[in-house]
Amino acid sequence: MVDRLRILVATMNPGKLREVRGVLADLPIKLAGLDEHQDWPQAVEDGETFEENAVIKARHYAALSGAYVLADDSGLEVDALNGAPGVHSSRYAGSERDAQTNNAKLVAALAGVPAERRAARFRCVVALAFGAEILATASGTFEGRIVDQPAGHNGFGYDPHFFVPEYDMTAAQLPPETKNRISHRGQALRSIRPAIERLLGGA
Ligand code: IMP
Repeated sequence: MVDRLRILVATMNPGKLREVRGVLADLPIKLAGLDEHQDWPQAVEDGETFEENAVIKARHYAALSGAYVLADDSGLEVDALNGAPGVHSSRYAGSERDAQTNNAKLVAALAGVPAERRAARFRCVVALAFGAEILATASGTFEGRIVDQPAGHNGFGYDPHFFVPEYDMTAAQLPPETKNRISHRGQALRSIRPAIERLLGGA
């Protein structure tokens, strides 16, 4: 068993990286984000599904880095908006990855829609790659509903407007450990964990 296997997490999003680290904290791996590689060309996420985009990202950064890469593609699907923003979640309100603007657009798009028709879910697909090979993929979903009034400061992205009925609070009010336990990303990461453990066992 080799300790501290290095895995590159294909994201510049500090919120995502924090959650990935939280869920996989007990494994002897070193997880690094892309912040040190601002000069690398970004993956062209032109897939139509979260799975396609996770695979595109994982392959792209595995080829650039020569390292093991874990890519997460995720987003929010709102039923009353026919599944939007979906794979376009990070750029819903434009090219900027600006959560406040995205949230403002989301609230405006749902103006007049009653609470019972505001069902939404986060979806996440993670892919683990080495070279051109996809070693594993896994997915998760997290059900809730969209509220106009933001609440909470944890998490990132749409979390302040994503109300989780079982906990009577938004995803941004949940303690990070709780969000990781029930979230789309937490589920996907726990499902892909055996593939990471196989790397550790075989390294
Ligand atoms: P990606 O980085 O292309 O996968 O885009 C994911 C986008 O979906 C993020 O920028 C957020 O807008 C949204 N998103 C995904 N997961 C979450 C979450 O756990 N909380 C809040 N927003 C999320």
